Amino acid sequence: MTDTTATALVCTKPGDSSVLEVQDVEVSPPGEGEAQVEVAAVGVNFIDVYQRQGVYPMETPFVMCSEGAGTVRAVGEGVTDVAVGDRVAWAHPVGAGATTANRPAKDLVPVPDGLDLETAAAAMLQGMTAHYLVNSTYAVGPGTVALVHAAAGGVGQLLVQMITAKGGKVIATAGSEDKLEIARRLGAVAAINYRETDDLAAAVRKANGGNGVDVAYDGVGKATFDASLDSLRPRGMLVLFGGASGQVPPFDLQRLNKAGSVYVTRPTLVNYTATREELLERGESVLGDLAAGRLHIEIGGRYPLAEAARAYDDLESRRTTGKLLLIP
Ligand code: NDP
Repeated sequence: MTDTTATALVCTKPGDSSVLEVQDVEVSPPGEGEAQVEVAAVGVNFIDVYQRQGVYPMETPFVMCSEGAGTVRAVGEGVTDVAVGDRVAWAHPVGAGATTANRPAKDLVPVPDGLDLETAAAAMLQGMTAHYLVNSTYAVGPGTVALVHAAAGGVGQLLVQMITAKGGKVIATAGSEDKLEIARRLGAVAAINYRETDDLAAAVRKANGGNGVDVAYDGVGKATFDASLDSLRPRGMLVLFGGASGQVPPFDLQRLNKAGSVYVTRPTLVNYTATREELLERGESVLGDLAAGRLHIEIGGRYPLAEAARAYDDLESRRTTGKLLLIP
């Protein structure tokens, strides 16, 4: 096999979306343990933004994006997990933003019959994230009361659905009336516009009959962290899983005592898909639920690779709901 030319979304240096360029790149034949995939759709995620900005330091230039789905066109030596012609999806590692890409075969999850590749691409990173957050970081069950910030966003919409499906109750927050309506439609019992609320923790407690919540899912970070902490019941858990508004500054651990012996954790997907077995369990569960209609993903926008900068500007400026995709 010889090198193939692909069109790729390249981050040329750390910065805002203006550092992104679409370039032709050479893709070598798949190496040992790799599969070469013709990419059908690429997911847009906040981790791409953190990598582009240099918040997560990267050596530039690099091919952007971690999530996608496509069809295996060739496999390298030693690959047994997938075969040529398989439809696959993945959440990791970076380098997926291209028409053709070599992916580690161990990171590929089979896409079930009946599920289109765009939905599969949309589901992998945010879907498996919501899955571990409600099953493994905190075991949501019947009667669990959960606070979900940015509930109309990508991870947010999936959290609301998964918590509700387990018999839990969601108190949602979002930044506009349209977004609150999305959260209510998905099953949230209360929805609060945090851009118009002076005392967010008091509003959350009021929505929960004066009590603190069992668990707060916070991917907004800097802007909501204090309110999340103050919204918990004694021994409740704050799950800080992102920083869409900025990273949370260092804080005094005594605050956990004052808030009622509460827990704070800062989980990340890679630790919850650490083995192939765990990756397949989560990935197949999420894709299977989508194929069966038990879970729904709103595709909030599709952008050609050449318009990726606009997709990221839209995501970062809070204009979007649901999931954004790049179509190579
Ligand atoms: P979203 O679609 O949720 O977009 C982010 C949302 O956050 C916005 O739409 C906005 O909703 C809200 N927001 C609040 N303040 C700001 C701000 N200052 N700037 C931008 N957005 C703001 O994104 P994702 O679903 O892709 O990701 C959500 C979070 O989950 C991110 O922090 C991401 O890093 C994290 N994440 C973490 C993972 C992990 O394993 N730890 C894996 C995947 C994602 P509104 O207008 O309603 O306020």
